[in-house]
Amino acid sequence: MCGVLGIKGKTTLEQGKILLQMLTHRGQDASGLVWQRAAETKFNVLKTPGYPDLLQIKGYEIIHSLLGSTRYPTYGSRTNNKNIDRYAQPFLSKTRYGDIAVVHNGNVTNIPRLTNKKYESDAEFLTEFLAEKINEAKGNLPKAVKGFMEKIDGSYAIVGLFKEKMFAFRDPRGLRPLVWGKNDKVIVVASESIVQQNMNIMSVENVSPGELIIFDNEKVVFKEVLLSRDHAHCMFEYVYFANPCSMIEGKLVYKVRLNLGRELAERIKQKGWKIDYIVPVPDTSRPATQGLAEVLNVPIREAIIKNRYLQRTFIMKSKNERIKAAKRKYLYISEYIKGKSLLIVDDSIVRGLTSQKIIHDLRNLGAKEIYCAITCPPIRFPCYYGIDFPTDEELIASGHTLEEIKKILDVDGIIYQKLEGLKRSIGLEDLCTACLTGVYPTPFAAEIRLRVLNGELKASSHYEE
Ligand code: 5GP
Ligand code: SF4
Repeated sequence: MCGVLGIKGKTTLEQGKILLQMLTHRGQDASGLVWQRAAETKFNVLKTPGYPDLLQIKGYEIIHSLLGSTRYPTYGSRTNNKNIDRYAQPFLSKTRYGDIAVVHNGNVTNIPRLTNKKYESDAEFLTEFLAEKINEAKGNLPKAVKGFMEKIDGSYAIVGLFKEKMFAFRDPRGLRPLVWGKNDKVIVVASESIVQQNMNIMSVENVSPGELIIFDNEKVVFKEVLLSRDHAHCMFEYVYFANPCSMIEGKLVYKVRLNLGRELAERIKQKGWKIDYIVPVPDTSRPATQGLAEVLNVPIREAIIKNRYLQRTFIMKSKNERIKAAKRKYLYISEYIKGKSLLIVDDSIVRGLTSQKIIHDLRNLGAKEIYCAITCPPIRFPCYYGIDFPTDEELIASGHTLEEIKKILDVDGIIYQKLEGLKRSIGLEDLCTACLTGVYPTPFAAEIRLRVLNGELKASSHYEE
């Protein structure tokens, strides 16, 4: 997953960097900007490994268009100073009709079917593919993007610059979010509405699935859905990924998480668990914890505190790295643990390493009983659309029954969200739930899954022919 940003209109590099910082939670592996000064077609590029704060920009220079990216590596290595140009966005490409710059969030599944060239990043492939389509369409951008959409399988939310205009488009299923808004000076396109909020632009619109919008001088000059398919918005954006202040498809993420807690509470009531405290695993599950506490009428105690100046463990590549980091990640308040029955709330269990570590620590600190409430249904299948869910074998909920998971985690009881409860909480039916059900909304990902089931391919989220 990644964060993307586009600004068209008079702004500063400093402003661009501040807005990109709003998307740090969507990727911390690398950050990048591309911008154009007034009356200049040249692209200026700056990339760094790590957070956007590390972008060394020269203060308040006035610019007229900018793209930004925060990278979350789903494949390829993590970024360092040597490989930065191959991994970090934005990417540039030449066409016969002018150069293009592109930032992309998502994951393309069918690259090996479209080219023999090896790419380190799907964003680089997409940029070159779009340039090719622009040449074929003789510089006509809508025609080029339509051709692009007809060929590319997977998820993509793209912002780009071409011939002094900014454009934005989204895959026809709308797997990844993309919103835009304007004030009298600038147009801002971003993965999440917190970016526009930061500029006091409170009214935002979705770039609709399959839609291309072209902006010129703070105005919309083209807006049309080029390819229409059944929508499949990623449920995991609501469960974990997005910032709770963001609105996705018109739904406030915080409220969805509150609802997820309420849904679980109704079912926990039937279980007859005696609970002294409800304890969130920080930070994503805090709104859900509130929903649970309101319905169950049990107090919340934040007995698990996150050491917030550490890198996110999920993004680390090796199991050892992850276990080591998890050890430093959490601190505990034993007063609320010793001799108490606790309901631990987490948004999701992927490999189960985080839960195992926390429960082990709580047992050592003398917890009497430990129950677990998970706001997402069991994750059983890899994601081909940009979330780093690994092979079937590594996913704890794939190949284990609930009873086995309870034993592995060493808990007295565990409850997962049901699919229906998830849909009710989000308030949408047209969701992607492939990592829960194994039913993939795009044809090529469905084909990969079938080949995995037939034993022709390994069940990894990275497809290679
Ligand atoms: P596990 O240890 O089971 O593999 O990971 C589950 C934990 O990681 C949960 O606490 C959840 O909050 C967090 N998590 C789930 N998905 C992601 C993700 O895509 N990125 C990050 N940084 N954390 C995640
Ligand atoms: Fe989101 Fe899961 Fe679909 Fe991936 S498979 S896009 S994580 S819902």
